[in-house]
Amino acid sequence: MALTESQRECVRCRANFRCEYCGVSEDEAGGELTVDHFVPLSKGGTNDLENLVYSCSRCNLYKGDYTPADSNAPHLWNPRAEPAEHHFREGQDGHLYPLTPTGEFTIKRLQLNRPALVRRRLRKQQQQAAEALLMRKYLLLMQSYHRLTEVYEILIQEQNSLLVKQLELLKQLREWLDES
Ligand SMILES: [Zn+2]
Repeated sequence: MALTESQRECVRCRANFRCEYCGVSEDEAGGELTVDHFVPLSKGGTNDLENLVYSCSRCNLYKGDYTPADSNAPHLWNPRAEPAEHHFREGQDGHLYPLTPTGEFTIKRLQLNRPALVRRRLRKQQQQAAEALLMRKYLLLMQSYHRLTEVYEILIQEQNSLLVKQLELLKQLREWLDES
């Protein structure tokens, strides 16, 4: 049975409009993505929400209707069941590296190190590094600002006590002038 519009919207929003396998967004893909049946309908899968994965057309194409033939066959990572960090590590070179046999098989099957994805991860890393640098600069600036405020407050206090002394002196001077 085909998916209803509300099922599709639900899957789409739940995934935050990104491919749950590779992370590509609708904006990056230039349009809405596809809905994948993790266990294909042809292999007994259902339209149950937990069996539906928002997927870019590439990941969906490479995954195909794969399901392990038996318990010894390699398993695909199910983004609905486990976080990516259980199976993959992102390198500074933008490549995904497997942490488990499931991770290794999924990277190969879904071609998760295709050049466009590696470039995208590198761009994201550069963006995060730039944001971290900006945040450090902002914190340093705020520290300097607080120090300046402290110095300013001390100066104001000193200026006040000087004014008080000046007033006392003027008062004394007036008294002497009156006496003379
Ligand atoms: Zn994808």
